[in-house]
Amino acid sequence: MKPSRLTPKAHPDNPYSTMPPRSKPMNRRPPTEPAARKKFRKGVWLCQCCGKRFDRSDEGGQSLECHEMASGGSRTAALEHPECLLMLCGVDLKRGLLGCHKVVQDWPLDKQLALKKWSDPERYDRLLVLKVKRVASTFVTEEEVDARVEELKRHGVGPWLNQ
Ligand SMILES: [Zn+2]
Repeated sequence: MKPSRLTPKAHPDNPYSTMPPRSKPMNRRPPTEPAARKKFRKGVWLCQCCGKRFDRSDEGGQSLECHEMASGGSRTAALEHPECLLMLCGVDLKRGLLGCHKVVQDWPLDKQLALKKWSDPERYDRLLVLKVKRVASTFVTEEEVDARVEELKRHGVGPWLNQ
């Protein structure tokens, strides 16, 4: 049934409304960060790509950013799993640095997974990432990831970054 135009709408200024008033935009709290993402973010103090450290005393103009290996509708689910996350250095406008995040986010998934496997083996889980992204378990194979890891080891992170 379509809602009638005569149905009274919940409105804070409508004294006859039986509905609770909607919160005003000003009162809305920002969405809370899932515990898994927060724990991961607080526990990693270096860029998992170039290895740059971010001590509290040496953050400069740059910061570490959390990259989710899943976007769109899968992003929310990805935030619950550190296996889907990478900590990467961000843009540094002062020094004109692009940062690893800008580059890695455009990589194909097999390359991103290889970076995870190489830099964060304890939290590497290819099948979980594929499940969160809602793609087939064969979308990226372990052999493809391993081939990328070998590439990374051969070229080193710097040159591999922009290939
Ligand atoms: Zn970096």
